[in-house]
Amino acid sequence: MPQAATERVVIVGAGVAGLFAAILLARAGREVLVVDRDPDAAGDGRAGDGRAGDGRANRPAALTRSGLTQARHSHAFLARFRLLLATRAPDLLDALLAVGAREIRVAELTGVTGVTGLAGATGTPGAGGVDGDGDGDGDGDGDGDGDGDGSMTSTADDVAGLPCGDPADLVVLGCRRALLDATLRAAAVAEPGVTIRAGHRVTGLVTSPGRPGAPGRSGDVPWVRGVRLEDGSAVEADLVVDAGGRLSPVRELLAAAGAPATPELDVPCGIAYYSRFYARRGDRSLATALNRGHTVGASFDRYSCLVFPADNDTFSVTFGVLPEDTEMRVLRHDDAFDAAVRAIRMVAPWLEVAAAIGTAGPTGSTGPTGAPDGSARAGSAGRAGGAVPLGPVAAMSGLRNRFRPWVDDGRPIALGVLPIGDAALITNPAHTRGTTLAALTAAWLVDAVTATNDPGERALRLDAALRAEGLPWLHDSCEQDAARLARWRSTAPASPPAPAIPPTEPATLAAEPATRTMLPTPPPESRWDRRIPAGRSEPDGPVAVTNGEAFLAAGRDPVVRQAFTRLQNMLALPAEVLANPAFVARVRAVQASGWRPAPVTGPSRDELVATARAALIGALGSDDPGLASVPAGPTP
Ligand SMILES: Cc1cc2nc3c(=O)[nH]c(=O)nc-3n(C[C@H](O)[C@H](O)[C@H](O)COP(=O)(O)OP(=O)(O)OC[C@H]3O[C@@H](n4cnc5c(N)ncnc54)[C@H](O)[C@@H]3O)c2cc1C
Repeated sequence: MPQAATERVVIVGAGVAGLFAAILLARAGREVLVVDRDPDAAGDGRAGDGRAGDGRANRPAALTRSGLTQARHSHAFLARFRLLLATRAPDLLDALLAVGAREIRVAELTGVTGVTGLAGATGTPGAGGVDGDGDGDGDGDGDGDGDGDGSMTSTADDVAGLPCGDPADLVVLGCRRALLDATLRAAAVAEPGVTIRAGHRVTGLVTSPGRPGAPGRSGDVPWVRGVRLEDGSAVEADLVVDAGGRLSPVRELLAAAGAPATPELDVPCGIAYYSRFYARRGDRSLATALNRGHTVGASFDRYSCLVFPADNDTFSVTFGVLPEDTEMRVLRHDDAFDAAVRAIRMVAPWLEVAAAIGTAGPTGSTGPTGAPDGSARAGSAGRAGGAVPLGPVAAMSGLRNRFRPWVDDGRPIALGVLPIGDAALITNPAHTRGTTLAALTAAWLVDAVTATNDPGERALRLDAALRAEGLPWLHDSCEQDAARLARWRSTAPASPPAPAIPPTEPATLAAEPATRTMLPTPPPESRWDRRIPAGRSEPDGPVAVTNGEAFLAAGRDPVVRQAFTRLQNMLALPAEVLANPAFVARVRAVQASGWRPAPVTGPSRDELVATARAALIGALGSDDPGLASVPAGPTP
């Protein structure tokens, strides 16, 4: 084993991946410096207690750290993430719970009660994310009323060979992303061996050429010896970790230093996000049952809307829409957004607050605006006595599925530098897997670093883990996106009308650039969803079911639901569930029975636009010049 004591590690980026890696590496004896471009990334070493009335957790800076634009959007942290914390750093899980993170026991909420208690119940699958249900037939009402006859029973024999696991593991963390990061930051600041240097952008790398015969068969590629900061200074390191997220410059800096290009997989997600956070005035209860595992909502007509219960009394609502749907950009406006939420029966109750709890609860004091700590603007919902908005609507697009290999044909493209988190692998955030992948990649990095001193060998080990355990999630994400887009775009008009509103165009709503150099999708013979039966040379048709098919069947069959919920929580790989013969047989049996979930009810996309637009017109007043161009649209 290598001598660990003096190895100096510089981590670019103090997001989830960077902070988690820093803490684990320091505990493995490394001396770690985390550099982040964002002045807020060092924090004050205190996470606050996260309650609605806690000024530190709710202060605007905590919710809008400039380097973390995604923190303004809904996040859920899957059971795999929670288990990873529990096994690798249980004190971090304790710290999150101490600041008010909510444990959502998905098994109880979805009727998954374990092998011996599976008889009969219909229920709701643990799909969770913003993407919708994966097949678009309008399921998602989650009331389990598809037939309610309880006729499909299960026994221990039924689940033999299925990756059903222990339902007790199915616990999702509900927490605002900003509070999660603040909590990790506080832990990193307190960790001996970790230093955070905030407000310093990494703009260059210190490299020396690798030599033939360098470790790991890696001659002639750049060997990274440190980073350069914006002010021109250099920081030397034995290992540089790229945790700079989806916009990290490190890969381009490596290319400039002579690292070979590798083919990438880079596919637009085809979704734009509109999100808003609220507090429920001290009420921690769930306003409605969670019909999708850890969220409430559904995929509707060319849009999805989901509520994410978060820490303490907070929650967020996110609309997912087609990026090219310019009329939906009306959701960028606070009043339009709130009106759209209220128009959807399934989620509307979240904006109301129980009459008995209509004032600040035991955890919060309200400031002069009616908002916690007085810093958040009280919008229309706040004025109406409902949930209090914690800030304006945030919009985000340009989202991509991406894998950029750092090893090509068994050869690292550089030495002394390793990627984790979004810098290594990005999946559609709608599937709520990014933070779990960020933490997992950090753990894989630490495993590689502690296993060997050889920089080439470290790169190969991390790459192997990324391909074996990370890449399947990217393929699953791309397949789900393709199914949703086929559905949403099949009902969209050929050329969307020009935008009628918004006076302000969010900078983050850029057009999606064309797909870049593609890493070929795996050939059929190596794909997990095409098994060739023994004695045959060709696949006997697609043996695996799709994620969307599994989602539907999970609404009917509790065994399918239990295994599918594990998949959705990343406790089993897609292939382990979707290509499992026993699982496939159960899904096909549900299909053959003719059972269909009750259709979801909600406004059509046109009705939603009309409702949102009417609310905006009402808020702006009819004198507003921009309103002259607003088409009336259908009556909601
Ligand atoms: C809209 C949206 C919703 C999402 N929802 C979910 C969800 O529900 N569940 C989930 O698990 N995941 C979700 N994700 C994904 C998740 O946010 C990311 O996967 C995760 O943040 C990746 O963590 P990271 O540490 O790799 O990168 P980041 O968290 O992006 O951190 C990167 C850090 O690097 C710093 N940095 C960048 N460049 C430099 C530089 N040159 N010098 C110094 N510092 C630099 C940045 O300031 C930042 O602090 C969502 C993502 C988006 C966009």
